[in-house]
Amino acid sequence: MHQKFSKEVTKITTNLKNLSKYEDEMWLCARCGDCSLADKTVASNRDVYLPCAIKNVLGFEAFAARGRIMIMNDLLNERIPLSNDIVDWAHTCTTCKSCMETCTATADGINLPDMIEALRRDLVQNEFVMPKHQVIEDSINELGNPYKEPSGKRLELFGNRVWPETAPVIYYVGCTSSYREQEIARTTVELFDKLGIDYTVLPEEQCCGSVLLRLGRTKSFERITKMNLEQMKAAGAQTIVTACAGCYRTWKIDVPNEGYKYDFELLHVTEFLDRMVGEGKVSFESPKPLKVTYHDPCHLGRHAEVYEAPRRVIESVENVTLVEMETNKRYAHCCGSGGGVKGSFGNLANDVAGNRIREAEETEVDVLITACPFCHKGLVDGAKHIDSELPVVDLPEFLLPFVRKGRKRIMAENPLKKKFMTYLTAHPKIFEGLKKGATIDYDLEGDRFHVFVTGKSQIDVNPVRAENPDVELIFAPKAVEKLITFDSEDEYAARFGLFFKEPTDDEWIKFVLRLNIVKLLMKGYRKFAQKAGLI
Ligand code: SF4
Ligand code: SF4
Repeated sequence: MHQKFSKEVTKITTNLKNLSKYEDEMWLCARCGDCSLADKTVASNRDVYLPCAIKNVLGFEAFAARGRIMIMNDLLNERIPLSNDIVDWAHTCTTCKSCMETCTATADGINLPDMIEALRRDLVQNEFVMPKHQVIEDSINELGNPYKEPSGKRLELFGNRVWPETAPVIYYVGCTSSYREQEIARTTVELFDKLGIDYTVLPEEQCCGSVLLRLGRTKSFERITKMNLEQMKAAGAQTIVTACAGCYRTWKIDVPNEGYKYDFELLHVTEFLDRMVGEGKVSFESPKPLKVTYHDPCHLGRHAEVYEAPRRVIESVENVTLVEMETNKRYAHCCGSGGGVKGSFGNLANDVAGNRIREAEETEVDVLITACPFCHKGLVDGAKHIDSELPVVDLPEFLLPFVRKGRKRIMAENPLKKKFMTYLTAHPKIFEGLKKGATIDYDLEGDRFHVFVTGKSQIDVNPVRAENPDVELIFAPKAVEKLITFDSEDEYAARFGLFFKEPTDDEWIKFVLRLNIVKLLMKGYRKFAQKAGLI
């Protein structure tokens, strides 16, 4: 650890009422260690690689889910006391959900992030706190933001602009973009102006409360949420758009979970732009070829399952090629900033972000794009920390210079894709055994389509990529040319398996599992894999 931890004070307590709700779930941990040690070879071709970005830096088992569960169990059973060391340790988890995504002890994975947040609530209630967290809470209560900035200055970054009182779309700016990453707010507004969006901002926007919830300080959440909701209602909001992944998770998941209802639509800016691109209302063009990679913010990806919208928007930019990092989407390494880690242990956050920058550098791209001001700040600091010159930009900033209004990018249609789709439509028995809702994405030299199972041996074949597929299949064109010659589904399955197990230079199939084995079995993939001789 790089920072001095607080002085030890100990106190035995039995008052862990929030954490104790998870005691049964803790016993489901099989101590397998996948949550920190899994990699592709042992994780069945998932893009998993040492999932806990924090443990990857700190090295000790105590910082990965398995160790954390053992320690929390000992706390519950009073084998170890609450102490300031426990406070520090509890705030080294980014609650990124990567361990949960990797864990197969339960269908959804053991919910370590919620356990850590429950423990943080108990720590606050037992008066084991970090003084700097109290400062954050006080700042939110007094000034409406966690940065001790004057509330009246929130809109100053937009100059003297007079905002309409009502509009169908509200841009919810968020505290980090308002005060620390102002370029993101300015470019988002410039982009919205360029696209002719009828929108406004809230006159007295308050912090979304994410930081309060992440730090176990739930008391002040009610007041700020009510203030924000009242203003959104008064502005006649139909759609709230935010460019911050933390705000998005809070409004999408936490606000309803805390018992508040709203009737507006909530979109992250990546979803909002994706919709506009899809409707042909905007297109983008880079004047020169660019290779880029994309970092999934944990609060947008794993927490809210938005993986494809940002990628579709990036790929819609003419002359831009998206190259994935080794860990991406569900298994993307965290940037190290979330869950209060950046504010609590800045050096640790920088080390984690530095590792993510190294991962991005391996793709040999020109730019690393992300879609959250907090990730942006963390990654920029991480790049400095390891002396990397890789530019890190937020998605609206990246897109702004490339706006080409109205003209939709015409993608040349791959004729083989069409033939493959027609073949699969005529052979639904290939998908026999898969449960309704199973979704497989097909990738033919970057051209994508997906199969959605609608019932017993009934499928829809859609010409676009799936939103959240269970499995991604990647085909060499020659493999497809051969596969679509088989009349019999059994012959198709057998050859499919052969192309995977005994690939040649021209005829091969690769696959990436996007769900863990437990979920795949529940969706009926056993029969599918057996027919292909894969298990
Ligand atoms: S992957 Fe799940 S079951 Fe295995 S040690 Fe981690 S938390 Fe426990
Ligand atoms: S939530 Fe993230 S940082 Fe915390 S233990 Fe799991 S993988 Fe590690």
